[in-house]
Amino acid sequence: SAPPRYAVFGHPVSHSLSPTIHRLFGKQCGIALAYEAIDAAPEAFAQTVRAFLASAHGANVTLPHKGTAFALADQRSAAASRAGSANVLTRLPDGRLAAHNTDGSGLVRDLRARQRCDLSGRRVLLLGAGGAARAIAWDLLEAGIDQLTIVNRTADTAAALAGALGQTRARARYWQDLDALGSFDLIVHATAAGVLGQALPLPPGLVDDRTVAYDLSYGAAAQAFLAWARDAGARASDGLGMLVEQAADAFALWHGRRPQTDPVYAHLREGR
Ligand code: NDP
Repeated sequence: SAPPRYAVFGHPVSHSLSPTIHRLFGKQCGIALAYEAIDAAPEAFAQTVRAFLASAHGANVTLPHKGTAFALADQRSAAASRAGSANVLTRLPDGRLAAHNTDGSGLVRDLRARQRCDLSGRRVLLLGAGGAARAIAWDLLEAGIDQLTIVNRTADTAAALAGALGQTRARARYWQDLDALGSFDLIVHATAAGVLGQALPLPPGLVDDRTVAYDLSYGAAAQAFLAWARDAGARASDGLGMLVEQAADAFALWHGRRPQTDPVYAHLREGR
């Protein structure tokens, strides 16, 4: 019989590494699966993904569909609910759709295991308050960081996220305040500025000699932030490891087994 089908939905989606990652995971675990990339315009996404999941098992969802994926699901995990977005849709045995979000767990795992970044008690600066920032903020706090400072171009969105997280450990600040905030143990870049080819105006004083800087994006989109961070003296990483870890968490949801991520990460790193 034909292997179970999966796909990543995005717009654009041709650049997506998810088909490669899931096929390598399947091979490693001896699990037969078919995985494709499907480009769906925003107005066509809901109908297209529903039609696909009528016969397929699961879908990964990337920009710009994560909010719609969350909204159309019949059931939502806690991680998806607190983010208000989903990067995983699964067809349940009764045909209903379940939404999940593995971006936050993927980031925390990459930070701990691959970047050797101890999160407990750390002061963290989160740049951005969009879907990705909302997904990771909760997991960073759960991982034991001490203080989360959120700065976003639209200040109200940062304030709303800090409020939702609880004011004792999360606070919002203005871009204009960045000069006065001192340095951070971890700086996470979660804006779309890099994807748009723009560089954020960040002061070097955010970095000290133990700062880890992490960009959620990878490839050309991460270059401006990583160059700033390295110039300022930080240890810097792009989001390729997070991409592989969020995929492994999705794979575990679907197949009941978490694959080893290091070989797949090394494979992708060599290819870049
Ligand atoms: P959203 O569109 O939900 O949010 C965009 C964020 O970027 C907002 O905070 C927005 O601010 C800010 N922003 C956009 N343009 C600018 C600019 N010119 N200057 C300053 N801030 C700007 O996108 P997502 O949160 O879903 O994605 C953000 C990034 O994270 C993307 O690059 C994406 O590729 C990456 N990502 C990587 C993952 C991985 O696995 N490695 C997983 C998920 C995301 P405002 O509120 O003012 O509009």
